[in-house]
Amino acid sequence: MPATPAWPPRSAPRLYVEATLGPDVAVPLDGNGAHYLLSVMRVRDGDIVLLFDGQSGEWAAVAEQVRKRDLVLRCTQQTRPLESVPDFWLCAAPIKKGRIDLVAEKACELGVARLVPVRTERSVVDKVNLDRLRAHLVEAAEQCGRTALPDLADMVTLPALLESWPEDRVLFFADETGGLTMDQCFAANPGPAALLVGPEGGFTPAERDRIRALPQARPISLGPRILRAETAAIAATACWMAANGDWTRCETK
Ligand code: SAH
Repeated sequence: MPATPAWPPRSAPRLYVEATLGPDVAVPLDGNGAHYLLSVMRVRDGDIVLLFDGQSGEWAAVAEQVRKRDLVLRCTQQTRPLESVPDFWLCAAPIKKGRIDLVAEKACELGVARLVPVRTERSVVDKVNLDRLRAHLVEAAEQCGRTALPDLADMVTLPALLESWPEDRVLFFADETGGLTMDQCFAANPGPAALLVGPEGGFTPAERDRIRALPQARPISLGPRILRAETAAIAATACWMAANGDWTRCETK
């Protein structure tokens, strides 16, 4: 017997939209999103596109009124509900452009709920382009199948972050001068949790003392080598996800 083709088709393009999705909602699209669908993915009238808005799950939509530079996508059916992601924040000092972009992309793929840029004393980069970071989060969410976008916080200074730190959230602090091993620490603190990673220049001794003084802080070591900030952020996030996140739920794709 011939296999029933998958529906929605596996090849259906997936796109984040700002509109609120629901039954029969028509989403007019132009600009970059339309360019991607029309010129890159060659979407035609009647084709199926998967849409998500970060709050209403994922919807199959039919392409209508396809023109050269714009089209309408009409939602027909919800294909997935809004997911719940592990309660894990990544607090990262801003680092050079391509590298912080990589951190945003990987954090989204790994299932991080919230990304918080944190300015520290040795931050070489003292500004973040939130629009660009958000674009990387959106692109990663489109690619990896997330239905919920990670929250992107405004940049805060390290003292401000620590002052308002929630009482019930453990702060794993990647300390290049040494700390607990991750397996000791992650298993004992399932969440809510967060990871704090320093900039290229590391934390100052005063900052380190200040972080360690926070009762919710747990200094962790990522081994004997000094990792680049982006490697530290991605590797430790992956380890936490493997111990406490949703990697243990096996789903057949
Ligand atoms: N310039 C610093 C290193 C900074 S590495 C030095 O030479 O000491 C950037 C950030 O990655 C650090 O602030 C820390 O948060 C994290 N990191 C890197 N290697 C680490 C390790 N082995 N253990 C824990 N954290 C590490």
